Amino acid sequence: MAGVLDYDIKYLPGVGERRAALLVSELNVRTFGDLLYYFPFRYIDRTRLFRIGEIGGEVPAYIQIRARITGMAYEGEGRKRRLRVFASDGTGTADLVWFSGTKWIEKRLEVGREYIIFGRPNLYHGELSFVHPEIDLVEKLINRPSGGLQGVYSSTEKLNNAQLGTKGIYNLVCTLWQQVADHIPETLPESFVAAYDLLPRREALYNIHFPQSPDLLKRAEYRLKFEELLGIQLAILSRRATRTTAADGFYFPRVGEYFNTFYREKLPFELTGAQKRVIREIRADTVTGHQMNRLLQGDVGSGKTLVALMAMLLAADNGFQSCLMVPTEILARQHYASIERMIDGLGIRAAVLTGSTRKRERDEILEALARGEIHMLIGTHALLEERVQFDNLGLVVIDEQHRFGVEQRARMWTKNSRPPHILVMTATPIPRTLAMTLYGDLDVSVIDELPPGRKPIVTRHLYDSQRMKLFGFLRREIARGRQVYVVYPLIKESEKMDYKDLYDGFETLSREFPLPEYRLSVVHGKLPPEEKNEGMRAFKEGETQIMVATSVIEVGVDVPNATVMVIESAERFGLSQLHQLRGRVGRGGEQSYCILMSGDKLSREARARLDAMVETTDGFRLSELDLKLRGAGDINGTQQSGMAFDLKIASLARDGAIVEYARRTAEALLEQDPTLARPEHVLLARLRSRYVNRGEVDFGMIS
Ligand code: ADP
Ligand code: MG
Repeated sequence: MAGVLDYDIKYLPGVGERRAALLVSELNVRTFGDLLYYFPFRYIDRTRLFRIGEIGGEVPAYIQIRARITGMAYEGEGRKRRLRVFASDGTGTADLVWFSGTKWIEKRLEVGREYIIFGRPNLYHGELSFVHPEIDLVEKLINRPSGGLQGVYSSTEKLNNAQLGTKGIYNLVCTLWQQVADHIPETLPESFVAAYDLLPRREALYNIHFPQSPDLLKRAEYRLKFEELLGIQLAILSRRATRTTAADGFYFPRVGEYFNTFYREKLPFELTGAQKRVIREIRADTVTGHQMNRLLQGDVGSGKTLVALMAMLLAADNGFQSCLMVPTEILARQHYASIERMIDGLGIRAAVLTGSTRKRERDEILEALARGEIHMLIGTHALLEERVQFDNLGLVVIDEQHRFGVEQRARMWTKNSRPPHILVMTATPIPRTLAMTLYGDLDVSVIDELPPGRKPIVTRHLYDSQRMKLFGFLRREIARGRQVYVVYPLIKESEKMDYKDLYDGFETLSREFPLPEYRLSVVHGKLPPEEKNEGMRAFKEGETQIMVATSVIEVGVDVPNATVMVIESAERFGLSQLHQLRGRVGRGGEQSYCILMSGDKLSREARARLDAMVETTDGFRLSELDLKLRGAGDINGTQQSGMAFDLKIASLARDGAIVEYARRTAEALLEQDPTLARPEHVLLARLRSRYVNRGEVDFGMIS
C-alpha cells in the first residue's frame, strides 16, 4: 500500500540527492513518512514579545522582541569582521551581530523599519545582544498561521552545513505538510479514537509540528505516544501468545534422585520462602509442553544461584543437559567451584568452559558434551561458539543477563532444533514499566526476600579529603577479621588511563597497610587469567584482607567474610552499578559497610546518586530513581537488552502511565481477537506489524 508517505525523501522539494543522503545518514530519515515522524524536541513560545527594558535576570533561552533598526556598521578585520546592527524599542537598545552572510543581511534590513527579532539573548554588562538572530517583518508575524508555539528540531553539524539546521528542517516540514496533509490514513479504528477521546492521527501530526495551542499539543503528544506504545505492546503480547501456544517445549515431569538427594542431603541451609516459590514456578513451567521463558529478578544476595542450580538438577533428572552462562571469567569459575562443592557425591558431571580454557581441556569437554556425558556446563560467552554442541540441551540459564548483548543471547538458540527452556536472571531491578516493554513477553519471578539474618548495609559518603578517617576504619574492621574491597572505576577496559588510578591507589594502600601484617590482592580485566584467579582465590580463602579491583568484580562475586566495600570515584559510577557493587558485601551475618569516596566537586546528578545510595538499599527504588535521572535510553542494560524499537516520542521513563494503559488495552484486544483477524482490527494488525519487524532482534531470541 505505497502512498505518499513512502516516497523517497529526495523527491521532497528543497531536498534532492545530496541532502537526502545526509538526512538518511544523520537522522535515518528515508521517506516522507520518516520526516513526518521526526518530531520537534521542544517548542518555543512565539506568542510573547519581550520589551528590551524588562530583560535581565531570568529570561527564557530564546526570546523575541519587536524593535526598530536604528543603524548598522561593519567592525573588525579578517575573520573577526562582523556586521553590527543597532535596534531600539523605546524601552532600551540591543545589538544584533552577524559574522557570516553579512552582505545578504545588510541588503535585507532597512534602517528605520520595525522587525520581529528572535534569538538567544546575551546580556553582558547590561548590554543586550543577539548573535545571528532570526529577523522577520512585523507584518509577517501577524500573518503567521500557528498558535505561537514553534517546533525546534534537532540537527547536526553536517546538516547545518547543508542549510538543514533547526530552521531548515522546520521549513522542510512545512513543505512536507502541504504534500502529505491529505494522505495521512488513520492507524487506529475509528471507534477506538472516539471511545478513548484521542485526536485523529492527522490532527495529532499537525499539532505535533505546528501546535495550534498548548492544549492541542498535549493531546497530540498523548495520541502519538499511545499509538506507539500500543503497537509495541501488541507486538510483544502476540509474540508471547505464539510461544505459549506452540507445543514444542521439553517436558520435565520427574523430580528425581538428583534433585531430591540434593534437597535432602546437600542443601546447606533452608530455602527462603521466595526461593521455594520460584522453584515451584519453574517446575510448573516445565511440565506444560510449552517452552519456559522466565525472568528471575532478585536483588543482589537473594540467592539466585541456588535456584538456578536446582532447576539444572531438575533438567538432569529428566535426562537433559543444561548450561549456565555468565558474563565474566571470574564469575564462571566462582559458580563452577561452588556448584561442584554442592553437587559433590551426586554423580552429576559439571564442567567450566571459558575463553582461557586450554585447548586440550577444551577438546575433552567438547567431546564429552557432545556425547551427553556432561550434565551441566558453566561458562562465559565461550559457550556460544559454534563448536560447543550439546547432545540434548534442555535448559539454558543466563545469569546477570543485562550484561549480555542481544545477539549473544540469540545464538544460544541455534544449539537446538527445539527451543530449550530459558531462565534469565538479573539483580538489576527493572522498573515495572520498563520491564513490561523490555521483557514484556517473559514470565517474571521475583525473589523478594533475603536469606535470614542479613543486616542492612550501612552506607556512608566520604570526600577524598577524609581518607585518613577511611583508613582508620578499615584497620579496625580488618583487626576484627573482616575483609575489604576497594574498587576503582573502569570506563573502558582497553584504556591505560583507567589503570593508573587503580595502581596509584594500590601503592597508597600498600604503604598504609604494609606487610607482613596486611596482604593485598589485585584483580582487573587486563591480568592474565591465572593471576586473576590466584588473586580471587587468595581473597576468597582469607589469605589477603584487601582486594583492590576494577569493577570486574561488580557482578556476582561472593565472599561472605568481606564486610566493607570502598568505591573510589563513586561519582563516576551509575546508580545500578553502585548498587551491584554494594551487593558484594552484606552476604554473611556480620554488619557490613559501603563507603562511597568522591571528590569535593559534584554535579547535581552525581550528588543525587550518592545521596540515594546512602539513603536506601532498596534496589527497586534505586532503579526507579536511576530511570528518572538518566532516562530509559541510558539505563544500564537497556541498550544491550535489545530494545530494537526506536521510540519516536514515548519515554519509558516518563510515560509509565501510558505504558500501563497501552498494555491493558492490548491485553483486552488480544483476548477478544487473539490474532487481530477481525475486519475492524485490520488497522491494529497493521500497527502491530510496524513493531514486530523492528523488535525482531530481541524477541526473536526470547520467543
Ligand atoms: P545472588 O542472588 O546475588 O546471585 P547468590 O546466589 O550469590 O546471590 O547468594 C548469596 C549468598 O547467599 C550466597 O553465599 C549463598 O550461599 C547464600 N544463600 C543463598 N540462599 C540462601 C538461603 N536460603 N539461606 C542462607 N543463605 C543463602
Ligand atoms: Mg548472582
